[in-house]
Amino acid sequence: MKTVWDKYQEKDIKKVMDFSEGYKKFLDNAKTEREAVEQTIKLAKKAGFKEFSTVKSLKAGDKVYFNNRDKSIALFVIGKDELEDGMNILGAHIDSPRIDLKQNPIYEDTGLVLFDTHYYGGIKKYQWVARPLALHGVVCKKDGSKINVCIGEKESDPILEISDLLIHLSRDQLTKTGAKVVEGEDLNALAGSIPAKSKKEGKDLVKKNILNILKKDYNIEEDDFISAELELVPAGKARDLGLDRSLVMGYGHDDRICAYTSLMALLESNNPKRTSVCILTDKEEIGSMGSTGAQSAFFENCVAELLNLQDKNYSDLKLRHALERSFMLSSDVSAGYDPNYPQVNEAKNAAYLGKGISFNKFTGSGGKSGSSDAPAEFVAKIRKIMDKNKIMFQFSELGRVDQGGGGTIAYVLANHNMDVIDAGIAVQNMHAPYETASKGDIYEAYRAYKVFLKDA
Ligand code: MN
Ligand code: MN
Repeated sequence: MKTVWDKYQEKDIKKVMDFSEGYKKFLDNAKTEREAVEQTIKLAKKAGFKEFSTVKSLKAGDKVYFNNRDKSIALFVIGKDELEDGMNILGAHIDSPRIDLKQNPIYEDTGLVLFDTHYYGGIKKYQWVARPLALHGVVCKKDGSKINVCIGEKESDPILEISDLLIHLSRDQLTKTGAKVVEGEDLNALAGSIPAKSKKEGKDLVKKNILNILKKDYNIEEDDFISAELELVPAGKARDLGLDRSLVMGYGHDDRICAYTSLMALLESNNPKRTSVCILTDKEEIGSMGSTGAQSAFFENCVAELLNLQDKNYSDLKLRHALERSFMLSSDVSAGYDPNYPQVNEAKNAAYLGKGISFNKFTGSGGKSGSSDAPAEFVAKIRKIMDKNKIMFQFSELGRVDQGGGGTIAYVLANHNMDVIDAGIAVQNMHAPYETASKGDIYEAYRAYKVFLKDA
């Protein structure tokens, strides 16, 4: 099988390795959607982007971004063509499967303090037990202040853990199906065991001690968990995988791998013909709902603001034209063919690690249900751009027919009547605490996104 590694020369491989160093850093610093937005703004500002509200006028070449509640973001490089003629859009999501703390999480049981949780996104629950977990997120106080939390990433930090049942007493557990081996309501994270010093016999003194620590170190009180978003994620950094260092294993490739590559492509888009866009959305893993999900009016509102600032004769029709004349790569991970589980794939239409960016004409499940299915004419246009720029690409679908399936944000943007195709990177163990991807595919996707912005 020919892969990107056959194509790359020594000097290309150096570029691939360098690019993946930047990506690993992004992954380590962006383990939640909020951290991803923060990192994105940092990188964007360095590349000359300005927050839209600080801008008085717009001309070709200008670079602006809109921050939606610190949880999703849209970035634009204004093109020479009228906005009404459409945009070239890269879209990816920055939320990943994880374990969220409940709004009333903290309790004591037999001298141990635990945090009760509610998992987020599609996970195999048994994968998340007996491993170091870090606590990331925000606590919003009634006075309007916001406390950032990140516990468990520094070597010296403590970590949390969800326990697993010892093998010695697992006779009954191991007769259950995989879905039931570890159940959602049993994902409680161990958080402490020292009681607060007290003169008289007290109740829940261990819990009291943990609350004292939270108050002292973070100014967090028990009621504040109600207005908090605290996420348990695997503690630790992304690592090179393979003796040849050709792969990266890390938490949250889905979909920060496409978010980072799309972002890098956009930051390097200078004076494009058509306006270049990168949308990084939240809530994809739970259906793209809500104000920060792809179904929100946020993106449409951003385009309206841009049109309004550039054009004295703003109209709803112009906004509709701008959207329906756009082209989009909905960039999300694909299921990488796994030699350990060949039976779930159909070999001719599987995505392989190292074979370049992976396009899906359609996603969905069953009879293509839930997919926006890119029109063949648009697929031909994409093939032409990729071939012209010597990008290595593959066309795949998610597993054998009727084996399962999945969706992306593609259909949401396609609802504006624009041409959208799914384009992403093949990963192994998708939605596991650590996922695996090829550095060659990461680099090839970044190259593909760049030429799409330029040539589509
Ligand atoms: Mn995804
Ligand atoms: Mn996913």
